[in-house]
Amino acid sequence: MIPRYGATRAELDQLLVGEPRYRVDQVWKGLYGELSDPADMTAVPKALRSRLDAELELSLRPVSEFSSDKGSTIKFLWELDGGSRIETVLMLYPDRATVCVSTQAGCAMACGFCATGQAGFTRHLTPGEIVEQVVRAAQRAKAMGRRVSNVVYMGMGEPLANEEPVWQSLVRIHDDIGISARQLTVSTVGVVPGIKRLAARPLPVSLAVSLHAANDDLRDSLVPINRRYPIKVLMEACGEYLEAKGRRLSFEWALIADVNDRPSDAIELASLCRRFRVPAHVNLIPLNPTPGYAVRGSAKSHVYAFADQLIELGVNATVRRNRGTDIAAACGQLAAGQPVKMSSKSRDDRHDDRDDEAFDDGYDD
Ligand code: SAH
Repeated sequence: MIPRYGATRAELDQLLVGEPRYRVDQVWKGLYGELSDPADMTAVPKALRSRLDAELELSLRPVSEFSSDKGSTIKFLWELDGGSRIETVLMLYPDRATVCVSTQAGCAMACGFCATGQAGFTRHLTPGEIVEQVVRAAQRAKAMGRRVSNVVYMGMGEPLANEEPVWQSLVRIHDDIGISARQLTVSTVGVVPGIKRLAARPLPVSLAVSLHAANDDLRDSLVPINRRYPIKVLMEACGEYLEAKGRRLSFEWALIADVNDRPSDAIELASLCRRFRVPAHVNLIPLNPTPGYAVRGSAKSHVYAFADQLIELGVNATVRRNRGTDIAAACGQLAAGQPVKMSSKSRDDRHDDRDDEAFDDGYDD
């Protein structure tokens, strides 16, 4: 048996020995173009359909599913071979549909405010396990009459700590599912050698960097890998990426009350963004609650004030909508466990003031 979305064309060729030549193309197109299960590929003879169904094995076993935002955010909890669990989030917007994929079970980067980091590292995902998350979320979107337009590598794990499988999955999603490179976003905590290698690869995928602090003292404490790759070398690598791809960079910034949400933080951040030929875009994420981090997120009005200050300083900033906080599907809440209990206060927070849609997630532009 081989993994359904990890199999190469050569492996599929092997499986289809003795079949007419066009069969490989037909099955490949069925799997990726039409998002069909082999059992539903009616153009394929029935006996072969059931053989493919048995031999091309699925890698993700559904454990449970949670939905919120009136059904427009769906979180899938999967079990992998070996028993570890990961999560995938499908977000439906009026103008696009985004899948957020995990690249590792757990994460070794140990950012204190992130639920995945609090849980530690279990194992790397294979290319097939990453691609299958996209296909299965896309199948669900298709059943609702929607097409997945964007994939963000912002689920559990650090993509650039699992480089080769992540790269192979990007190629498969781009070439075979047909999502353009700019609609594929790799988010990294700042693994500099990985950024440089990604810059040297052929696809111009979008790069997002989880910055959260614009000086080394603060970033050392929030994002431990900063001690290895401090801001100066990180910014140099970002500059190389921009030059290689011509794609505007994004910086993610989870706003933590009185930690990185002061006017001085906005000034420091703006000056980092503006050092690039094309100024970096800032994605502000109101800090989502996680079980292991007592510090508060900034109040929503403050988040928008911070965004306004950045805009005044000439930097493009958007506030990311907190999709799925009530089902622990939001940024930093993925821990493959039960939803974090929310207080009624924080639930209410999600429905107040300004029109979120205008300040959307900024995943794409
Ligand atoms: N490891 C990669 C991919 C994860 S992306 C990276 O760090 O970029 C998940 C995003 O959510 C990152 O920007 C991360 O810093 C952010 N995040 C983590 N915990 C969060 C929290 N509690 N609230 C809001 N954002 C958080």
